[in-house]
Amino acid sequence: MAELSDTIVFLGTAGARFVVARQFLASGGAWLSLGDTQILFDPGPGCLVQTAKRKLDPTELEAIILSHKHLDHSGDINIMIEAMTDGGTKKRGTVFAPGDALNQDPVILSYLQSYPQSIQVLTEGGSYVINDVSFKAPIRHKHPVETYGFIFQTPRHTFSWITDTRYFDGLAGHYKGNLLVINVVRLNPGAPIDHLSLPEAKSIIEELKPKMAILTHFGMTMWRAKPWELAEKLSEETGISVIAARDGLKFDLAQLEG
Ligand SMILES: [Zn+2]
Repeated sequence: MAELSDTIVFLGTAGARFVVARQFLASGGAWLSLGDTQILFDPGPGCLVQTAKRKLDPTELEAIILSHKHLDHSGDINIMIEAMTDGGTKKRGTVFAPGDALNQDPVILSYLQSYPQSIQVLTEGGSYVINDVSFKAPIRHKHPVETYGFIFQTPRHTFSWITDTRYFDGLAGHYKGNLLVINVVRLNPGAPIDHLSLPEAKSIIEELKPKMAILTHFGMTMWRAKPWELAEKLSEETGISVIAARDGLKFDLAQLEG
């Protein structure tokens, strides 16, 4: 019998409007294959195309998790709900989303809201279960719409994903895990934009000391500065193995044991 593994496939690494609008990088979110459980995370524009291209079968999904309603995270959520439910013919899967993605100016169309087996509204401090995987939304982020990051626990690994947010004191402390995935849109901090910058990501990594960190969700300034070189520099500076995600990267969490 094959041993169960946990993998993350990056269906996109684009963050923020310009990189997404021009598709300098793909923006399909991520496919989490955690043992026997398939989860789609933040299905941005192009997610459907990326899953087809990578031969991932949406009818195998158990859940779709949305961190927040911004289009670069939610653009393909409706078509992915339709795909998960075999065109709405099979009531299956769970959708997890913040309340404001469902109610005010909903990004999940109301006629589709009856397709999944259930829709669960994410709340600050909430814990959720999908088969033998559990995840938490420890704290509401500072972002223009209701936004959460997550800590995932599988029988084999714990990893956290810090999604879009402005930096705030105490942010890092909520996200302890062996692996940290972190959305780093900006190269430099400053302007009034509610996104993390590279120096902020560095201090979060230094505080959390995960076994490994993966940078993703790059805006123009990060992309122009070559994220893989920035990641290498961060590794040298922090002593923690940091890599930059690439479109299509399949990361096996077994690498954390190496
Ligand atoms: Zn956002």
